[in-house]
Amino acid sequence: LDASGENFSSEEFDVERALRPLSFDDFAGQEQVLENLQVFVQAANMRGEALDHTLFHGPPGLGKTTLANILANELQVGIKVTSGPVLDKPGDLAGLLTNLEERDILFIDEIHRLSPIVEEYLYSAMEDYRIDIMIETGPNARTVQINLNPFTLIGATTRSGLLTAPMRARFGISSRLQYYSTELLSGIVERSAEILKVPIEQNAAIEIAGRSRGTPRIANALLRRVRDFAQIKGNGKIDMEIAKFGLKALNVDAHGLDEMDNKILTTIIDKFKGGPVGISTLATAVSESAETIEEVYEPFLIQQGFIYRTPRGREVTEAAYKHLGRVKGSTQGG
Ligand code: ADP
Repeated sequence: LDASGENFSSEEFDVERALRPLSFDDFAGQEQVLENLQVFVQAANMRGEALDHTLFHGPPGLGKTTLANILANELQVGIKVTSGPVLDKPGDLAGLLTNLEERDILFIDEIHRLSPIVEEYLYSAMEDYRIDIMIETGPNARTVQINLNPFTLIGATTRSGLLTAPMRARFGISSRLQYYSTELLSGIVERSAEILKVPIEQNAAIEIAGRSRGTPRIANALLRRVRDFAQIKGNGKIDMEIAKFGLKALNVDAHGLDEMDNKILTTIIDKFKGGPVGISTLATAVSESAETIEEVYEPFLIQQGFIYRTPRGREVTEAAYKHLGRVKGSTQGG
């Protein structure tokens, strides 16, 4: 388990699917986003039109893919799923687009990673529901224009800053997902426990929730691991004791910070006097890519008040020293 909560076996992938909410009613939190989406869906349903192209952005595991699937259910349309890095030729995209039925959804995960050629190709599809297709090759090569059924493109990205301006401008709806409160997450944990048919005490659900980095995917992943401890080391029921035991064994600390989170904080303190330090220097020092730090780790550390950004780089806060049991100014190493 890492901070993105994403490294699953295929069996776990199925479990993750089973835990995925299917309707607006099952989906916890993100009230503002949901309220708006409900209005847009109702309006689109009433007019019998495709929903406007929609962009979801925010850190991994907060529900972007889940929302895309919920929208398909609520619109009662089909959904085709792909991702930016997978779509490397305009031809692949053309195949998907021409197979969409009226009002269907095309979901592109990691849309900031589309190649420029594919992205450009997508523009006319999004704007006019029309694409050019190249037929034949050599001297007979020519392009024909094909009309598409009106469809909805849903894009998801962890890095909206990397999206090009023309791409961004083509989304009529754009929603940013926020980290979840412990309260919301404990509700999600209880719901998941019910689906998994494992009894859980409320305070144990809150304990797991509080250590989940504000992220439903991580909450579900921790629940599944703690369930294993309950089954093997306990009596099958998740109570406070077994939850604490399991979380300790999994190396998750009281704030839900994982090893890399803590490594980032201690490195800034010990090697860079608390900062500021540039992102690429920091990345080298902790042996992680700058992209992953910016995408996965930093947003949570900023939200928790452990790090802040300055024009000269990242600095840790007083709270970070406290969390690590350090005293500011008494660090070694530089
Ligand atoms: P993303 O696409 O943003 O990386 P996902 O939509 O794949 O995140 O969500 C990861 C998992 O977290 C889902 O399988 C689902 O079980 C759970 N999840 C996400 N958001 C919610 C929510 N609001 N309520 C309940 N479960 C959620």
